[in-house]
Amino acid sequence: MLFRQLFDQESSTYSYLLADPQTREALLIDPVLEQFGRDSTLVEELGLRLLYVLETHVHADHVTGSGLLRERFGAQSVVSERAGVVCPDLQVKQGDVLQFGRHVLEVRETPGHTPGCLAYVCLDARMVFTGDALLIRACGRTDFQHGDASALYRSVHGQIFSLPDDFSVYPGHDYKGRTMSTVGEEKSLNPRLGLHKSQDAFIETMRELQLPHPRKIAIALPANARCGILQPMPDTVSELLHDWAAIELSPVDVPELDVEQLSQLPSGDVRLVDVREPDEYRGELGHVVGSQLVPLSTLLASARPWSKDAPVLLICRSGGRSGKAALQLAAAGFKRVASLKGGMLAWQARALPVERGYIEARQG
Ligand code: FE
Repeated sequence: MLFRQLFDQESSTYSYLLADPQTREALLIDPVLEQFGRDSTLVEELGLRLLYVLETHVHADHVTGSGLLRERFGAQSVVSERAGVVCPDLQVKQGDVLQFGRHVLEVRETPGHTPGCLAYVCLDARMVFTGDALLIRACGRTDFQHGDASALYRSVHGQIFSLPDDFSVYPGHDYKGRTMSTVGEEKSLNPRLGLHKSQDAFIETMRELQLPHPRKIAIALPANARCGILQPMPDTVSELLHDWAAIELSPVDVPELDVEQLSQLPSGDVRLVDVREPDEYRGELGHVVGSQLVPLSTLLASARPWSKDAPVLLICRSGGRSGKAALQLAAAGFKRVASLKGGMLAWQARALPVERGYIEARQG
């Protein structure tokens, strides 16, 4: 079997491409919207026919790429019938099978992290794709999205630990650089769900976890309920409204806001979008507190679910890329956009507060 494990750094999400090397029929599990370019290029380069795009569950930490991949390749999107989403071509349940060439994936229901969680088992390749039900030495959280710790315990023990010990476990995420595990390894070593741990002890462990809310939840849940596509892109350039801040036009007609003005705006009123690359965002210059990382190359895709009326302020190192970003969003119909004049260099020159480093403590 042709197999690729793919990683999205921002959300620490794994996607999996599986294909029959002879028939070229393929499927992709848990694609991430921002990786649409990478994934579609890989499918094309390898000459694959993408039949299915599968979700292990409705994600709260990233937006799915399934809607775009379905459009591009004519693939069918697959979600649990218990997930409560309106978009999929196929709603599957326990025991259903999906065939690609000479291989099949068997659907197993694993509620607990969410009610619509699924694991996909490839019997001939001895693999199980566990989504967020079972992570390496951990599991998905159960404190929102109708999570249920006792259901998760029963799912993992009944549907995953019932597989032979040598089956490879491929999780939905890993935050520590690990790529895979095995059923036997998790049965003996998983500190939350291993065989030495009772259901009551597991429920207690999950109750005591104090995890922050996923940063993208407000965007991801509504977008994923529609396979990642909220509304069609408008094709007219709308007039820029400058009623939300002291916007000035640059010599090349880029709407700009200066750092002094930004530092005085009430926080929470404006969506702050940093369009640099991830290593710059986490690097020396830091980033403005409360800003979200959306590299310029992924901006239009990421911005699809955003309100076009709410103010968006674009930030980069010196104001070049954020100016381009502001014009791109304006062309896509956003009414209140501006670029931070002088970027993070100007922000730092005024010694205004920044955050540095990576945002940790996300689980599933
Ligand atoms: Fe999740």
